[in-house]
Amino acid sequence: MKITFIGVGEAFDEELSNTSIEISIEESGVKNSILFDCGLTVPPCYWKSLPDADRLDAIWISHFHGDHFFGLPALLTRFRQMNRKKPLVILGQQDAAGIIRQTLELAYPAILDKLGYQLRFVAVEPGEVVNEAGLVWQSALNAHSVRNLAVRIQKGSKSVFYSGDGLSTAETLSLAQGADLVIHEAFRIEQEFPGHSTVSSCVSFARRANVCRLALVHVERNERRLRREDILQMIAKISDFDIFLPEPGDWLEI
Ligand SMILES: [Zn+2]
Ligand SMILES: [Zn+2]
Repeated sequence: MKITFIGVGEAFDEELSNTSIEISIEESGVKNSILFDCGLTVPPCYWKSLPDADRLDAIWISHFHGDHFFGLPALLTRFRQMNRKKPLVILGQQDAAGIIRQTLELAYPAILDKLGYQLRFVAVEPGEVVNEAGLVWQSALNAHSVRNLAVRIQKGSKSVFYSGDGLSTAETLSLAQGADLVIHEAFRIEQEFPGHSTVSSCVSFARRANVCRLALVHVERNERRLRREDILQMIAKISDFDIFLPEPGDWLEI
């Protein structure tokens, strides 16, 4: 399982693209590729990194803030221009189909009738276990200003948890238990901010969830730039699991 950080930024960072992560899995010659979130500034970074229009099998949308799903019209419409034929699955909350169809229609009227490939919506609500794109998907509700679902994908013994935006809850802690990799938003370093996590709270979360690795994403733009050394010093003190602050394009294999 290869995890690539297409973008690691928050909503309005002029230098870093919105957070978006691609995961590719190959088993017995069968390849699958999925994307976690697709914000407004993600598509150009996606194409630079992954130019094959047929690569992606599924996209997970954590919640309906523009930095997490407004990239879909550009991504899906360019797939049409590139003559994609492979079906694409979009997974997320129960109401994702309606909201995303409406968003696509507003961006490019009637595009849904002209895509040239099948678009399928699959809900993964908390408590459900869904099989798609060769993976097992589960979700849990966290605490954000709008309804956000954290997700866990599993392939055999390998698992990745992605928070989307928000503070952890008992439900997301349970979902993340024993994951090989937790990708968590850490909007602030230590100062609490409504509906978001901090580096400190992410460390505590990862420790209580007994995870192997923690990647910190979606850090507030000024804190990431001006207090980068503080973050790296905090990270350097953690020795009971791997913790890192990925840069765009960074990847790892689990
Ligand atoms: Zn966000
Ligand atoms: Zn958000």
